[in-house]
Amino acid sequence: MAVPTGVSEQDWAAALEALTTAVGSEWVFTEEEHTSLYHDVYSIYQGEPEDPVVPAAVAPYTAEEVQQCVRIANQYKIPIYPISTGKNLGYGGSAPVYSGSLVLDLKRMNRILNVDVEKATVLVEPGVTFYDIVEHFESNNMPLTLDMPDPAWGSLIGNALERGMGHTYSQHGRDRWSGHCGMEVVLPTGDMIRTGPGASGHDVLWQDQKYGIGPDVHGIFTQSNFGVITKMGFWIRPAHEGFRHARIHVPRFDDIHKLIELDTRLQNMEICNGMSVVASPLYGSFGPMLFTPPVTDPEHLALLEVRNGERPDPGPLARYGERNRLAFWWLELKFHGPNSVTQAQWDYARDLFSREIPGCWFEEYDPLEFPLSDQDKADLNSYGHVEMVNLGIPSLHRFAVSMRNQFNPEPGVGHLWFAPMIPKTGEQILLAQEVLQKNCERLGIPLMASYYSMLPLMWYPRAGIFLAGWNVRADPEQNRRTREQYVELSQICADHGWTEYRAPAPLHDPIMRMSNGFNDHALLRFHETLKDAIDPNGILSAGRYGIWPRHLREERQG
Ligand SMILES: Cc1cc2nc3c(=O)[nH]c(=O)nc-3n(C[C@H](O)[C@H](O)[C@H](O)COP(=O)(O)OP(=O)(O)OC[C@H]3O[C@@H](n4cnc5c(N)ncnc54)[C@H](O)[C@@H]3O)c2cc1C
Repeated sequence: MAVPTGVSEQDWAAALEALTTAVGSEWVFTEEEHTSLYHDVYSIYQGEPEDPVVPAAVAPYTAEEVQQCVRIANQYKIPIYPISTGKNLGYGGSAPVYSGSLVLDLKRMNRILNVDVEKATVLVEPGVTFYDIVEHFESNNMPLTLDMPDPAWGSLIGNALERGMGHTYSQHGRDRWSGHCGMEVVLPTGDMIRTGPGASGHDVLWQDQKYGIGPDVHGIFTQSNFGVITKMGFWIRPAHEGFRHARIHVPRFDDIHKLIELDTRLQNMEICNGMSVVASPLYGSFGPMLFTPPVTDPEHLALLEVRNGERPDPGPLARYGERNRLAFWWLELKFHGPNSVTQAQWDYARDLFSREIPGCWFEEYDPLEFPLSDQDKADLNSYGHVEMVNLGIPSLHRFAVSMRNQFNPEPGVGHLWFAPMIPKTGEQILLAQEVLQKNCERLGIPLMASYYSMLPLMWYPRAGIFLAGWNVRADPEQNRRTREQYVELSQICADHGWTEYRAPAPLHDPIMRMSNGFNDHALLRFHETLKDAIDPNGILSAGRYGIWPRHLREERQG
């Protein structure tokens, strides 16, 4: 039987007995056929000695059982790694950062504890998935909806703790963490706290107001290893009434600056509340990947050729666009709300673009009314680029990006996500395209498409994310190169101030160091100070986001 790292066989035998008493023998997993399920199937260390192993897993059913497991881990100094549903694919899956950790699997804790329809709030346990919550609303006729990330089989809590992103609304949504309200946390010592007004011991305000009185500690539990979250509240939205989307096409290369500026202005005014998309038909991109028909016209293809990493000349492309009625860029705006209201919002936006960008033209789509008919759902992708997730409908469609497709003719066994954030300005977008393209070519990084045809995802209100999936292969040599290239490109982004919004677990150490260099990494020292105080035995999620407990720090950081 495998034993957790650093634990004697004798202690492990005693710990197993205590864990079995705490949660029941059927919820302690030590056989390989079970523990192998926690392996990260997308691991960038496939088949290498560094590939994290899971010696055992334990699945508590209540917060009190979580406390008992954490106390046992303290008693025997067992490294533990909590997961909610463990679907963090592309960022580490369900595998621990520190190989040999006991996985604390919280999937069984899947209760939807409270739904307040009037206030549009929910309180859930870690095992509740996006599918579960939508199903709960539908089967109980609750007129509610929530922002939807991909893939919907993940959990609200795991997604929020990774500061994951959805694709629907800006308000309490896309930035999942921004929508949380109130947490219950089992600290690494086994003690339990509630945050915000829930700290009073009353739950009357817990999901209504984020702050109680005193320091606000919520954020330290995200992308960290300071506690096991056993409950979390979320602010959501009343059910959809209507949805509208429209495109603004602009003819000139330089129009990118005004286009992005006006999108940001409309988002900041909350006139536009859906997830915008920006694309460049002339550079060969027509919106989110997989919806993009390939460029086939030989004349157009010749104009797109990238030589020595340089941007294909915008002049001839603009002239080609003029002859073929192709925009240099387009922006798609999405509006959620009653159709009478979104009509006024779109009218305002259209007037604004007409005034500010001479020569722009518009493509308007019929608004949708909810509930959607099956035909509406079937038609979604046939006009514009409305995806299920843009409307809060759970799906697993996004897995198609890692399948064989026109951009990914040789799919791997999984992928790593590479996701630097850049400020939302035309200037920074153009600079990032150039820096990323040139450095990918220099480093020999295979690209699914030229960076000149890629545009950032407009997830945040003021920052975009240049998301790319890097194939993982069943070839250690290739994966080693991929890791080196990933770290080098991340460093180049960090040198420009383009921090990653989240990082694959096996690369947390280098990414954290390169992204937090101010004052000789003072922030990282602060994280360690917190870690030593909160987790004196250093048992919880060692190494997550580069935070190592004292007893492993020297060994890990050299
Ligand atoms: C094709 C594809 C598309 C994707 N698209 C998106 C997307 O649109 N948006 C997005 O955000 N992500 C996306 N992802 C990434 C990922 O699938 C999701 O973020 C997913 O929700 C995370 O899985 P989970 O909820 O099961 O989290 P988990 O795997 O359970 O948790 C993630 C990590 O958080 C910590 N953690 C989790 N729960 C707890 C807890 N209760 N207490 C303490 N620590 C905890 C653990 O360290 C864990 O490893 C995508 C992945 C793929 C493969």
